[in-house]
Amino acid sequence: KPKHKVTVIGSGNWGSTIAKVVAQSTSEHPELFETDVQMWVYDEKIPITPGSSLYDRYGGATIPDGPVMLTEVINTFHENVKYLPGIELPHNVIANPNLVDAVQGATILIFNLPHEFIDKICKQIQGKTLPFARAISCIKGVTVDEHGIELISEYIEENVGIYCGALSGGNIASEIANEQWCDTTIAYNTPPCDLHQDTNGSSSNGNGSGVAYTHKNARGQPSKTKLVPVPAEYPTLDHDVFQKLFSRPYFTVNMVSDVVGVSLGGALKNIVAIACGFVEGHGWSNSGKTAVMRRGMQEIIKFANEFFPETVQEATWQESAGWGDMIVSCTAARNWKYSKMAVERGVSVQEIENTELNGQKLQGISTTRDVCSFLHARGLEGNYPLFMAVEGIVDGTVNVEDIPRLFRD
Ligand code: NAD
Repeated sequence: KPKHKVTVIGSGNWGSTIAKVVAQSTSEHPELFETDVQMWVYDEKIPITPGSSLYDRYGGATIPDGPVMLTEVINTFHENVKYLPGIELPHNVIANPNLVDAVQGATILIFNLPHEFIDKICKQIQGKTLPFARAISCIKGVTVDEHGIELISEYIEENVGIYCGALSGGNIASEIANEQWCDTTIAYNTPPCDLHQDTNGSSSNGNGSGVAYTHKNARGQPSKTKLVPVPAEYPTLDHDVFQKLFSRPYFTVNMVSDVVGVSLGGALKNIVAIACGFVEGHGWSNSGKTAVMRRGMQEIIKFANEFFPETVQEATWQESAGWGDMIVSCTAARNWKYSKMAVERGVSVQEIENTELNGQKLQGISTTRDVCSFLHARGLEGNYPLFMAVEGIVDGTVNVEDIPRLFRD
């Protein structure tokens, strides 16, 4: 009987962590999965300088002459020394610098890389995956501009031609990599054709070719992507299989079907995290921050209900992908930390990005601008005072101390 083959696309801090998680599970469930997990690595040169830990590890005469490729280091020492140093990866994680080769034959693709690269990745693997492969996106963020909103999972579905769910939660990669317990949410709306019973009640018994099924997308509308069913010889690819793939004793998974809610929670909480940083940087403490978090969550829920009324589910906000992610983002993560620093130092967030972030950007800033331009284009500013306040503070037209007044008006 064929088993599911898993590939992780991306090997950064979170990609390497998730590769560790799923590789431990594939070893534990040989009845469901092939043991080896391919991890696609955007390869880069790693210098080996005398005195560095890599120099010592290679040791004696085997020290390579010049830099080594990250892929080789991962496959030799089972550690991603650049993006997840200090964590031993299971030996069944196989780093592969060739994207097309890494996805070949995989039935489960896990997308896990910064969202700016997703466009290029999808183009490269178009037509190269199994037609009945299924995907989970661990990428936070949605694409929003004044014209509309696109979920990352929708983008993958339309551009690779396979169904895609989403994983999101109050998760900090280094903590999970160190096996410190937390929980997460996976949204996966199992396509009916994969239950080996098509909508007419007859067995689809697909062989990966032939019938293509129309299914409902995350918005509850017929998807433009026609799905090829997962062949019946494979273990049925439903919530149970994903639960077994992603669950570890230190990583509790809750399966839901609301891809919209899980995706929006992961993206919009960054706007609220920026607001919390501003409020705390101004000197207001936990009570003020709590008020911002509560109002921020109200605006996220309003946004989801206003633009995705057919599919979003109220219960999702109680998940790790809802309140869980909100709390960790507003108390411990990057957007909160650096917006707080900006107010404390009396400088703009842009200046903090330039001086503190080594070329990286605060994702919450671009999300704020994108979401607000979408709302401006529809004349809906009045319904989202917190989102608008963050935009105003970032642009220098609103002061942090105006926040309570904006809520009163
Ligand atoms: P990261 O910054 O650690 O990883 C950067 C990755 O991008 C590396 O694998 C690098 O090789 C790759 N890369 C660099 N240049 C590239 C290029 N030109 N083309 C393709 N790839 C390139 O990112 P991350 O923390 O792993 O985040 C990935 C996703 O996971 C993001 O959407 C993030 O929001 C989400 N996430 C992160 C965490 C976390 O704690 N890090 C937790 C939950 C979710």
